[in-house]
Amino acid sequence: MSPITHFFIGWTIANAAPSLTKRDRAFVTWASVVPDLDGLGIIPEKLTQNSAHPMNWWTDYHHVLRHNIGFALVVAVAAAIFANQTIKTTLLVWLSFHAHLLADLIGARGPDGDQWPIPYLLPFSNRLHLTWSGQWALNAWPNIVFSL
Ligand SMILES: [Zn+2]
Repeated sequence: MSPITHFFIGWTIANAAPSLTKRDRAFVTWASVVPDLDGLGIIPEKLTQNSAHPMNWWTDYHHVLRHNIGFALVVAVAAAIFANQTIKTTLLVWLSFHAHLLADLIGARGPDGDQWPIPYLLPFSNRLHLTWSGQWALNAWPNIVFSL
C-alpha cells in the first residue's frame, strides 16, 4: 500500500487510544510509515539507472531493510525511550508497525506481478519470506477504499 494509506492506518490506531499525548500518537502514526523508508532507494536508482555504475537500491532493498522484526525492535525501543506513556505507546507502535507489514502482505503486489516477499525474521534469519497468494496490486481498488 502507499505511504499515505499506511499513514492513515497508523493514525487510526493512534487515535484509538485518545489518552495518549499528541507526541505519543505521532510515534504510533509514524510507526506505520517508517518501514517504507527503504523505498527511498528509488531516488539514487532512477538517477543512476543509465550510468556505468547503477545503484539498484530500490530493487535490492525495498521491502528488505526495514520490513522485518529487527527494524520493528529498533522502532519499538525508540518509542520506549522517548514516549510519555511508555508501555501503551510501545505496544501500539509495535501494532502499527506490524499493520504496515500486514497491509503490504495483502495489497502491495508490484506492477510486474512481483509479490515483494517480506523477509520478516531479518536480520536474525533469512528463512521466512512472507507472501500471500491472494495479494492484490498496489493500485487495486481495495487500496483506494482503505485510503478513503
Ligand atoms: Zn511497506
